[in-house]
Amino acid sequence: MTESTASPGVDMDTLVSLAKRRGFVFPSSEIYGGFASTWDYGPLGVELKRNVKDAWWKSMVRDRRDIVGLDAAILMAPKVWETSGHLTNFHDPLVDCRECKSRFRADHLEGETCPNCGARGSMTEARQFNLMFKTFVGPVEEDAATAYLRPETAQGIFVNFENVLTTTRRRLPFGIAQQGKSFRNEITPGNFIFRTREFEQMEMEFFVQPETSDEWYRRWIDIREQWYIDLGIHPEHLRRDEHPAEKLSHYSAGTTDIQYRFPWGWDELEGIANRTDFDLTVHSEASGRKLSYFDSETNEHVVPHVVEPAAGVDRSVLAFLVDAYHVEPDEKGDERVILKLHPRLAPVKVAVLPLSRKEPVANLAGEVWDLLRPHWATQYDDTQSIGRRYRRQDEVGTPLCVTVDFESLEDNAATIRDRDTQEQIRVAIPELPAAIREKLGF
Ligand code: ATP
Repeated sequence: MTESTASPGVDMDTLVSLAKRRGFVFPSSEIYGGFASTWDYGPLGVELKRNVKDAWWKSMVRDRRDIVGLDAAILMAPKVWETSGHLTNFHDPLVDCRECKSRFRADHLEGETCPNCGARGSMTEARQFNLMFKTFVGPVEEDAATAYLRPETAQGIFVNFENVLTTTRRRLPFGIAQQGKSFRNEITPGNFIFRTREFEQMEMEFFVQPETSDEWYRRWIDIREQWYIDLGIHPEHLRRDEHPAEKLSHYSAGTTDIQYRFPWGWDELEGIANRTDFDLTVHSEASGRKLSYFDSETNEHVVPHVVEPAAGVDRSVLAFLVDAYHVEPDEKGDERVILKLHPRLAPVKVAVLPLSRKEPVANLAGEVWDLLRPHWATQYDDTQSIGRRYRRQDEVGTPLCVTVDFESLEDNAATIRDRDTQEQIRVAIPELPAAIREKLGF
């Protein structure tokens, strides 16, 4: 496939409408008028999202010698959130406009003007608003039964540190990776799937010898930035934002955000934090369990320091979609919309397109589809003209189309068409899987 070029950009309305029209992302509960800032992933969206998560899991867990996986529960003992500091510290500053009653995050406002009604100096004093969703466990709605939906997956890793260490007998440095839903009662969700109240995270806690934490922090920034580039994001659309000391979270000795150039401006994709020994130390003290590592070389117990790359699945999906969006001329010089998604991320890898809906072409195309289906995510499309079908596949990022025509009945071959170059090659049907594998790279 060709390298992705710098996208000229796409506005959010165009992208949101493509996402809905082609079955990537639907507004949630739409038949009831929707539900504020919640979204459902459709047939193509769920494939794309799964591919993003699989690419992360492959690079973070399967390809590495030093990281193992975990899948902890969303509901955890409330003591976890008391100890981690989330009950007292996980706040955003909330302000109201006295004129129009809109609510905003104070740290997201620029100047004194209300972004909704334009009133000046109408904002109330900021008050702290805890972002954790509360629920009740069991049939009685009382304080003693209060539980929280996790606002990050990381704590599930810290409280399982001992379990993982004893069952895997790891040596430092090693990491524990996890993907899953998190929930934050965001004051101002928005920008499509960028900021929602229910979202998915991909987090990894990397436990290291204390004196090596800064080195690992820098190294993980590089590794994580490269992951986006390897999957097709143009390097010029990424930048790093290192937090100044006064902006750091209570647990952090250093945080760098990887930002993406979204249509509304630069915004966070992922944060890499040097969390020091904060989490293991506080959970040790509160639980009475010794969350440390015995170093057999020095005969000492060490509380490892932790470097955390924390990424958002939905934000990554959005960045991959925005970056992939291109408008280019087609074979006839008309405009075509192409999602130049990396083949690993593309929801459909190969589309099988018969030139005729009738036997015997349709029959042979069905056999070609059977041949390819076990290997990759495929689609079969026999409606409308071949040109329109190519456009439809380009628009959802399908890297390859296989066309079965009347000649195929004679030469038992089909045409593979490349999404980006529009090049066509003729390949014997039995050779299709090998030829496609070579083109896709897997
Ligand atoms: P922000 O400053 O944008 O609120 P954050 O710094 O609080 O984000 P982290 O706590 O570092 O975010 O979470 C790690 C990652 O989880 C973020 O980089 C982002 O990709 C994702 N994430 C966090 N909050 C949301 C949300 N409300 N919706 C979607 N993704 C989110």
